[in-house]
Amino acid sequence: MSGERHEEGCIFCNRLAGDDREHYVLHREPGWYLILNLYPYNSGHLLLVLGRHAARLSDCTPAEPPDMARLLKLMEDVLQEAFRPDGINCGYNGGTSAGAGIPGHLHLHMLPRWSGDTNFMSTIGQTRVMPQTLDQVWERLKPVVDRLAAAPGV
Ligand SMILES: [Zn+2]
Repeated sequence: MSGERHEEGCIFCNRLAGDDREHYVLHREPGWYLILNLYPYNSGHLLLVLGRHAARLSDCTPAEPPDMARLLKLMEDVLQEAFRPDGINCGYNGGTSAGAGIPGHLHLHMLPRWSGDTNFMSTIGQTRVMPQTLDQVWERLKPVVDRLAAAPGV
């Protein structure tokens, strides 16, 4: 994810405000926002980003983890409906030694997987074949996110 470091400042703080379409933001709440990973391992690779600059789950306020869990469920529901994947990877890299590209700002990854797709680890550092552009993925996911996020109980 070396390309992320060419931008001035924290890329996740830079997207706390601004144009959602331009930055591929799919959903915003006070505590978290949902965005497409600009360097995806697979089409539909989502990031759930904390709405303030803090590094670790252990830095969260008591209110933030419950919202995180609810939004992770929303993300899985969105991926299931939009892409019908065979599986889902979900994870958090705490610190650079754990593989965090942006270690200072807490974010969680979720990506759809298909039987026979490229192994997650083997794709790191290699050119990845993307069947859909970020614009196409955003256009496909945005209405699903909006509808599911507005559903009762979400
Ligand atoms: Zn930040």
